[in-house]
Amino acid sequence: MSENRYWLATLGCAKNEVDSDKLIGQLVAEGYVEADDPGDADLVVVNTCAFIDSAREESIETVLSLADAKAPAARLVVTGCMAERYGQQLADSLPEVDLVAGFGASLTAPAATRVVLSERRDGRANQLLLDLPRSLANRPWAYVKVAEGCDRRCGFCAIPSFRGNQRSRSAPQIIAEIEQLAEQGTKEVVLIAQDLASWALDRNGEGEAIEVLDATTPGSQPLVELTRAASQVIERVRLLYLYPSGLTESLIDAILATDVPYFDLSLQHASASHLRRMRRWGNAEKFLDRIERIRDDAPDATFRSSFIVGYPGETEDDHDQLLAFIEAAQLDWAGFFPFSNEEGTYAADLDHHVDPELALERMAEVSALQDEITQRSREAMIGQEFRVLVDAAGVARSVHEAPDIDGIIEVPASIAPGTFLDVEITDSKGYDLVGKKIEKRS
Ligand code: SF4
Repeated sequence: MSENRYWLATLGCAKNEVDSDKLIGQLVAEGYVEADDPGDADLVVVNTCAFIDSAREESIETVLSLADAKAPAARLVVTGCMAERYGQQLADSLPEVDLVAGFGASLTAPAATRVVLSERRDGRANQLLLDLPRSLANRPWAYVKVAEGCDRRCGFCAIPSFRGNQRSRSAPQIIAEIEQLAEQGTKEVVLIAQDLASWALDRNGEGEAIEVLDATTPGSQPLVELTRAASQVIERVRLLYLYPSGLTESLIDAILATDVPYFDLSLQHASASHLRRMRRWGNAEKFLDRIERIRDDAPDATFRSSFIVGYPGETEDDHDQLLAFIEAAQLDWAGFFPFSNEEGTYAADLDHHVDPELALERMAEVSALQDEITQRSREAMIGQEFRVLVDAAGVARSVHEAPDIDGIIEVPASIAPGTFLDVEITDSKGYDLVGKKIEKRS
C-alpha cells in the first residue's frame, strides 16, 4: 500500500513556521510522509498569513498556484491566520479549496462542512497545537513558540482579534521541547511569542495595556527564569519580539548571561504622542536610555527593531523624531513597514490617514538612513573574530545575526552544518560578511 504524502507551504512570520512544524509533527504521527513535489502529494496544505494586505495577497497566490500544481484527486486545505480570520468568506471566494481549517482543526479528518473554525477566540485552539510534538529537527537552530495570542491592543494590530488573548505554555513543557531539540542536534533556539516579555503573565482579560513590568512586578518576570533555564540545556538561546516596557533590568541581565547579547525590541515608532496614538508604551528617550544601559554593560550588544511608517496622524514632526531616533540609536538591524489599514482595529476608525505615497516616501527616507548605519556596523566587524554556528553549507551566524532575518557570515562550504567554529571576518558583502576559519581561541 502506498503512503499518504503531504505538501505544506508556510507563509508569514517565524510564529507561523512553528505552527507548521507542529502540523507536520501531527501529519507524520498520522502516517504521512513529505512529498517531493506538490504534484505528488495527496494532501496539500497552505499555512497562511493574514497580517497585512501584501501577506494576504501572497497567501492567495500560493493557494492558487498550488491548486494548479496539485494532482486532481489531492485535497487542498487552507489553514492558519487567514483561515481563522476569514473562514467562510475565504471558502466562498476559493472554490478550489476543499477545506478551510481554523486553528486546531484537523487537516485530515473528514469534515461535514468546508469551513471548520475554532469554537472560542481565546488563543486556546492554537495553544493546543503548540503543545503537540514538533517534527524532527532538520537544521541547527529552531524557533520555540512559548505562548499564543496577545493581551495588548496596539492600534494597528489585528492579531488579538483572531489569535485571541495570550495563553502561555508551561515552563516544563517548553524546557522539555528544548531538551528534545538539543538531543536531535539543535544548537540554538529562538524563543518567540507575540509578546515574549509577557510570557506566563496571561491576563485573559480585556487587553488593557500591561504596565511597565519593572514598576509593577519587580523581580517577578517569568521570562527571566525561563531564559536562564533554557540556556542550561542548549548552547544558544535568542529572544525575539520584546515589547520595550518588558525589557526589565533582570531580563537584560539574564539575556547578557546567556552570552547571546542580542536585543530584538519591538519599538514601532519613537515619537511619544504618536506612540500613544498607536496605543503603545514609550518614547525615544526611554528607548535610548535602555539601549545605552545595555551598551554600558555589553558594548558589542546587537540591537534589532521594527517600525511602522504612515500610521494615522503621523506628522512631519513625528517622522523627524523617528529619523533622529534612528540616527541616535545606531541599531544594527531594523525593518520598516508601511501602515496597513486592518479591519476591526482601533486605527481603522481614526481620522488623518496618511497619504500612502507620502508614507512610502517617508519609509524610503528612514530605510536609507538605517541602511547606511547597518552597512557601517557590518564593515566595523571586519578584522574581528567571532564564534559562528554553521546553519547550512557555506552559511554561518555569530550571536549578532538572528536566523532568517539578519545577514549571514559566509564560511567554507565543506564545514558541516551544526558545527561551531572560530572565524576572522575578512570582508563584507552588503549585509553579509566573509569569515576565514582560524584556530580556536583559548
Ligand atoms: S504586542 Fe501589539 S503588535 Fe504585537 S501582537 Fe500584541 S497587539 Fe499586536
